Amino acid sequence: MKYAIISDIHANLQALNAVFADMQPYADAVVCLGDIVGYNANPIECLEIIKQRCDVVIAGNHDQAACGVRLYDDFSAYAREAMDWTRAQLTPEWIHYLRSLPCTAEFGDCWMAAHGSPRETDEYLFHSTHFEESFAHLYAYMSDRRACFVGHTHLPMIWECTTAGLVTPTLVNNLVTQMQSQHRYIINPGSVGQPRYGGPEASYVLLDSETLVVEFRFVPYDVTAAQERIYEAMLPLALAERLAVGH
Ligand SMILES: [Zn+2]
Repeated sequence: MKYAIISDIHANLQALNAVFADMQPYADAVVCLGDIVGYNANPIECLEIIKQRCDVVIAGNHDQAACGVRLYDDFSAYAREAMDWTRAQLTPEWIHYLRSLPCTAEFGDCWMAAHGSPRETDEYLFHSTHFEESFAHLYAYMSDRRACFVGHTHLPMIWECTTAGLVTPTLVNNLVTQMQSQHRYIINPGSVGQPRYGGPEASYVLLDSETLVVEFRFVPYDVTAAQERIYEAMLPLALAERLAVGH
């Protein structure tokens, strides 16, 4: 079984369409790790596609803010402004849909999905200590899980935990990785709609659940068209500019 795992779409329709076109020949099922809305200017179109085409969808912190499950006064000024705009676009039906999304999910026998970390939707995993605590959480509650897929930081990365408990990060310069069956992993596919790894391409992951091969895919898309939508919606210019540089 081949899964496509996508995250942090953030209402970028052009990037989302490009990612679905790229995965078309490979993916048997699609898992979305949340943050469908926020930042960019096509929330409704992205919600329609995600609802229709994804087999598993979980909530991100922007999704929760959009439907009123959490406050967003801790967001950056640009994110707050975009969230005010996003909330004005949502019909009661979409608010109901976003409210219905779970915070974690399991897909297949050995895999789980979360937005921030295995224990918290809004927890950013950046440093080794964060990962050690997250792996401890995985082992404590899900000893037979091979990997947890997370989004939230928008950084494509693999963190590997050996049987001895040693945690090492792998920057994703090697686009195809063979998982070791005895090890545990936290894997971030990066962001579809607002990349922050220093390049403009949308990223996502293909997981072959039989061979345990993880492939990171980087997909070019029409950044200019996405920027034009931001200008038309009169969202902050910085949100358009950052798409071109992946920051
Ligand atoms: Zn996000």
